[in-house]
Amino acid sequence: MAQTLFQKVWDAHTVRKLPSGQTQLFVGLHLVHEVTTPQAFDMLRQDGWKVSYPNRTFGTVDHIVPTSSRQRPFLDVMAEEMTAALERNCRDAGIPLWTLDSDNQGIVHVIGPELGLTQPGMTIACGDSHTSTHGALGALAFGIGTSQVRDVLASQSLALDPLKVRRIEVNGPLEPGVYAKDVILTIIRRLGVDGGVGFAYEYGGSTIDAMTIDERMTVCNMSIEGGARAGYVNPDNTTFEFLRGRPYAPSGQMFDRAVAWWRSIASDRGAAYDDRVAFDAASIGPTVTWGINPGQSVGVSEPIAGSPVDEAFAFMGFHPGSRVEGTKIDVAFIGSCTNGRLSDLEAAARVVRGHHVAPHVKALVVPGSQAVRRAAEARGLHDVFTSAGFEWRGAGCSMCLGMNTDKLEGRQVCASSSNRNFKGRQGSPTGRTLLMSPAMVAAAAIAGEVVDVRTMLEEVPA
Ligand code: SF4
Repeated sequence: MAQTLFQKVWDAHTVRKLPSGQTQLFVGLHLVHEVTTPQAFDMLRQDGWKVSYPNRTFGTVDHIVPTSSRQRPFLDVMAEEMTAALERNCRDAGIPLWTLDSDNQGIVHVIGPELGLTQPGMTIACGDSHTSTHGALGALAFGIGTSQVRDVLASQSLALDPLKVRRIEVNGPLEPGVYAKDVILTIIRRLGVDGGVGFAYEYGGSTIDAMTIDERMTVCNMSIEGGARAGYVNPDNTTFEFLRGRPYAPSGQMFDRAVAWWRSIASDRGAAYDDRVAFDAASIGPTVTWGINPGQSVGVSEPIAGSPVDEAFAFMGFHPGSRVEGTKIDVAFIGSCTNGRLSDLEAAARVVRGHHVAPHVKALVVPGSQAVRRAAEARGLHDVFTSAGFEWRGAGCSMCLGMNTDKLEGRQVCASSSNRNFKGRQGSPTGRTLLMSPAMVAAAAIAGEVVDVRTMLEEVPA
């Protein structure tokens, strides 16, 4: 019988059905970082358990570590304590860890695919909501809480509720100036931030098929913002070529054997879905959020619809009928696991080249990993950004969340390439986040206000 990738991977990893109705699922890859693990390791020790599969567990530091200085001990005591705890726990358990002095350090969802750890047909877990990113390579990847991190450390398995599968098709070419970020913001806008509850999202159609793995990661990354438990794209030649030669990917004959298996786990033609939704790429333009959840978005020059009593209007300072275009910004942030990859920095640099950041704007570029940083520097992108007035940082989560030294102040407005615009997300309880593509952030940094990036791309020679 024709099956979806979801059904095949779920069945292949099922340990047993639990009396609760949940499924105990074996986890092929467990990624750990400094913030959601100290308590999990403590609980493990208290219960007298050991890490069952240290060879399937890999660690990095990203959330709380500073990106402006790598000097130890960190000035932030909590950052130092959490990092030291992860170092201790990984050393004791024999888990490979990439700390700030490692070439492989970076945001957990950037380094997994980059190193070839993330592979099609895998089940992946990590104590971070945006673990869905790894679905871009045809994996089933789940964000988990601290007690589940403990469970995976102890048993390499997770108890999960079964999910339905929604096929989301996007078809047609994207116009210049329209990016994967605009696609996923549009999907969440239409289906709602709770529209995916109880579902895994399978993305397909000619637009998704034509996307690079970086772009597919941007789409899958925000599945969780649409309420879905996971999001994935069926593996294809783009996936296999992305993985070829990566340090943890199979090599030689094993690679060819792996490709045969990876191909076999893609959804079968004729597989049944619990729901199907279709989007026309031609109807998607540069999209920005205006509210306090990622579903509250709008075309950059479209009027915002809604009821004036919605608390998002009062908080953000917009009114029904107003446009985001022209909104003055204070901070521009290019980075995060949504849009901190090399192709994101290249797209932003194309807009920035030959311009300067507006005098009132603080602008930062934070590569998603040290490897992204090195590759960007090899292409001279750091010169493009720094000569335009951007700060050029080390790898980490930075201003995606207000947990490290990069925070908004007061009512500042931030044009951000990250994935969450909840109240307080960027460190100030009254700070305002406008989510958009990295090219749109770059355009806003230069103009000092939100603009349609297409007007600036017209100035860029082909
Ligand atoms: S960049 Fe943001 S969303 Fe991604 S792992 Fe870091 S904190 Fe989480």
